[in-house]
Amino acid sequence: MAFISSGYNTEKPMENRITDIGPRNFEEFYPPVIKKNKGKWLYHEILEPGVLVHVSETGDEVYTIRVGGCRLMSVSHIREICEIADKHCDGYVRWTTRNNVEFMVDSKDKVEPLKKDLESRKFDAGSYKFPVGGTGAGITNIIHTQGWIHCHTPATDASGTVKVVMDDLFEDFGKMRFPAQVRISMACCLNMCGAVHCSDIAILGYHRKPPMLDHEYLDKMCEIPLAIAACPTAAIKPSKVDVKGKEVKSVAVNQERCMFCGNCYTMCPSMPLADKEGDGIVLMAGGKVSNRISNPKFSKVVVGFLPNEMPRWPSMVKSIRQIVEAYAAGANKYERIGDWAERIGWERFFEKCQLEFTHHLIDDFRDPAYYTWRQTTNFKF
Ligand code: SF4
Ligand code: SF4
Repeated sequence: MAFISSGYNTEKPMENRITDIGPRNFEEFYPPVIKKNKGKWLYHEILEPGVLVHVSETGDEVYTIRVGGCRLMSVSHIREICEIADKHCDGYVRWTTRNNVEFMVDSKDKVEPLKKDLESRKFDAGSYKFPVGGTGAGITNIIHTQGWIHCHTPATDASGTVKVVMDDLFEDFGKMRFPAQVRISMACCLNMCGAVHCSDIAILGYHRKPPMLDHEYLDKMCEIPLAIAACPTAAIKPSKVDVKGKEVKSVAVNQERCMFCGNCYTMCPSMPLADKEGDGIVLMAGGKVSNRISNPKFSKVVVGFLPNEMPRWPSMVKSIRQIVEAYAAGANKYERIGDWAERIGWERFFEKCQLEFTHHLIDDFRDPAYYTWRQTTNFKF
């Protein structure tokens, strides 16, 4: 047997192999009641906003309390979540795709103490650390992207815009007064890490100016062919420029072709396009992934541009509130925002939401895929 000094058996390279590459198998982390009833769940109900029960054919029940989380959490906040999970849920906790945290217990009598504990925990300024809600026909937690804190191409902030919208709509996170759920999403540039293309209401950061060119440093900082290749509209070409009497290699941008996507800046830091006046927010509405009532649909632009009004973005918050209230007042039960707008007509949607319709909102994009791709997940045989 060929051992080396660390105990590594060269003939059995996988034996006792310890690795930190990739996550552990998620099945190791199931709460026992989930593991035991896998594939046996009969139904689930929302008992009240933020509280769900799942019932198994074995008679077992799981009660879940959903609380709103945020995308960027401090270590001390996560430690507190773990402490609550240890105290009430035998150490088990889960995160949802919309940044919620879910605490699960296996009997009804454990629900109230857990809920009371969660609601009693507040930040120093008085706001809830663990607001209960985000289920059913209410505002679900907003998913968002990196924003100014972490990415290089945002046209607006992500955490900041989401914070102000949720501050305004917070009551509806813990209620279910709408005809159906309202999913709000946020992406801070049109690369759209935030899936805003299919949300009921979408906040999208938008650049309106082509990249600036720092000719002096461009060839020193960047691989010019890579910057040229990065442009999806072929707007960039090589060029020679005079800088302080010396000819340097650089690029030229055909401004008519530029669609302000920021791909070139990803490749070349000497082509920044962030701009105080040029950058701002587009609002979209009516998208969804669900098949219910109508096909899944893309969100449509409903507010062409709003300036970046830091730190509270009042125009954006007001427009979103207008859409939410008009929808709550006018939609039929189970209709999502897009279903409602299509039933009453988009012209009426703009009237009801008190939004201005301008020519900027007309989508004249036609792609060959329009005719060739199947555009819905609804199949009829
Ligand atoms: Fe960066 Fe754009 Fe993603 Fe925002 S949406 S994190 S700016 S790539
Ligand atoms: Fe091309 Fe996008 Fe850069 Fe404009 S911003 S030059 S479209 S890569």
